[in-house]
Amino acid sequence: EDKSGKEYLKEIQVDENEEKENETVTFESLGVCEELVEACNRLKYVKPTAIQRESLVYTLKQRDIIALAETGSGKTLAFALPVIQSLLDAPQPFYALVLSPTRELCMQIAEHFEALGVGISLKTTVIVGGLDPMAQAIALSKKPHIIIGTPGRILYHMQNTKGFNFKQLKFLVLDEADKLLNMDFEKDINQILDIIPKKRNTFLFSATMTNKVHKLQRASLKDPVKIEVSSKY
Ligand code: ADP
Ligand code: MG
Repeated sequence: EDKSGKEYLKEIQVDENEEKENETVTFESLGVCEELVEACNRLKYVKPTAIQRESLVYTLKQRDIIALAETGSGKTLAFALPVIQSLLDAPQPFYALVLSPTRELCMQIAEHFEALGVGISLKTTVIVGGLDPMAQAIALSKKPHIIIGTPGRILYHMQNTKGFNFKQLKFLVLDEADKLLNMDFEKDINQILDIIPKKRNTFLFSATMTNKVHKLQRASLKDPVKIEVSSKY
C-alpha cells in the first residue's frame, strides 16, 4: 500500500489539439529500436500519435501505465512496440498476454503484432470464445510469444490445457478495460491475475475511467504512470 497518498508515480494530461511543440518527436527519439522504427516506416507509421508519444518513454523502460485515450488514438501500437522490443532481447514462449473484449478486436491486435513482427519470426495466437478449443490447444502447443484473447477462453486454457503455463510471462496488456469489465469479464480477469506471475509489466488501456477500471488498476498495476489524452472540439 502506498502511504504517501499519491496514487500515481506521475500523471500526464495532454490535449491532442495543443501539441505543436511535439512535432519533432519520432519513434526513434522515444527510444524505439532501429528494427522496429523500420517496421513502423514500412507500415507508414511515421509520427507517433499522442498516446504513443506520451507512453513509450515509460513503457520502453518497463514501467506500468494506465492510459486513457479514445478509440482510434493508436493504442495498439503503443503497447505492441514495447512488448516486441523487449522480446527481441530474449525471445521466449508465452511472453505477453493481451486481453481484449471481442473476437474482432483480438484479431485486429494480432494483425498489428504480425505486421510489426515480419522478419523476426514473431509468433502470435488468438484465443477467443466461439472457436474450437482443441484447435486452440494445438496452436498453444506451438508455444507462441504473444497470446491475444478474451478472458473467459484464456482462463479456460490456463485451467485445462496441458503445457500452457505463464511462468515466463513478462507483459500483461488489458485493452479496452472499461469494455472488458462491462462485459462481465471481471471474475475471469481476477482469476487470471491470480495465476500469472506478479513480477511482470502491466499496461492498462481504457477509453474511460470508471470505478471498476480503478479497482482493476489497483489490483493489477505497480507504481503506475497515468496518461490521459483528450481532444477538445
Ligand atoms: P485504438 O486501439 O486506440 O482504437 P488502433 O491502435 O486500432 O487505435 O489504431 C487506429 C488506427 O490508427 C489504425 O488503423 C492504425 O493502423 C493507425 N495508427 C496507429 N498509430 C499510427 C501512427 N503513429 N501513424 C499513423 N497511423 C497510425
Ligand atoms: Mg484498440
